[in-house]
Amino acid sequence: MENSKPVPEERAKFLEMARDHYQRQADLYNQSLGHLNSLDGIDCPICKNRGYTEIVTEGFGGCYTTVLVACECMKRRRSWKQLQNSGLAGSINRLTFDNFQTNEDWQERIKTKALQFVQGHGGLWFYIGGAVGCGKTHICTAICGDLLRQSKSVKYMCWSEESVRLKGRVNDADFDDLLKPFKDCDVLYIDDFFKTRRNRYGEAQQPTDADLKLAYQIINYRYVSRKTTIISSEWLMDELMDFDEATSSRVYEMCRGSTLQIDRVGERNYRKKMTDNIRGDAENEM
Ligand SMILES: [Zn+2]
Repeated sequence: MENSKPVPEERAKFLEMARDHYQRQADLYNQSLGHLNSLDGIDCPICKNRGYTEIVTEGFGGCYTTVLVACECMKRRRSWKQLQNSGLAGSINRLTFDNFQTNEDWQERIKTKALQFVQGHGGLWFYIGGAVGCGKTHICTAICGDLLRQSKSVKYMCWSEESVRLKGRVNDADFDDLLKPFKDCDVLYIDDFFKTRRNRYGEAQQPTDADLKLAYQIINYRYVSRKTTIISSEWLMDELMDFDEATSSRVYEMCRGSTLQIDRVGERNYRKKMTDNIRGDAENEM
């Protein structure tokens, strides 16, 4: 019986050979080239675009085996995929800082403030509110594109669509799971925050209690966990305050360094009037 058991030296030698075998196998895999970059344009020198790295690890009973470990680039790739699914991916390359129109002073100031924000000089949150058609979506998309290139995971949330979907499932058992992507991403971009249906006179309706509750759940979580949030809205900051102070005071506090407001005036001449009415935080201490 004693002879059937390998002596410790033999066992150690066997395990070493096994480890070398698996290491060669892992090295071979880790030298191979992947093709994920052809799908998302993200070039990763760590995993050579395979998305995974193979490592040798000790398995059951002291034997060796290999496992695949997801590369850090996979977070960015997932984020990129989310953007594609959301419809923002198509605009990321189109709506950039480079092609943001700055013919007029107020446009230049929007761009300057946004650039300061992505360079980390404007706090964690960004808010641009007010007039329709002044480039809010363009500048926020440009910010998202830049933060993606900084390896942040970005989630796009079209408020008018997502809020309807989420409110409809508020009593579902998996509601918390549905909210999770909007809570956990590094960067959340809420487009057209509190956008609601227009009444028969074409006026924007105030958000409902269900809207306010949903907003608070997302905003408060991101406020407490200090996660970057970018918000565009037709509403001015003061109007948000009138809706719900709990949510708005958090937005106000977090966006202090990066709040832009473009006063709404007659649609045809808003561009001219905005030159005077655009208010950056530096000027009105928002
Ligand atoms: Zn990688």
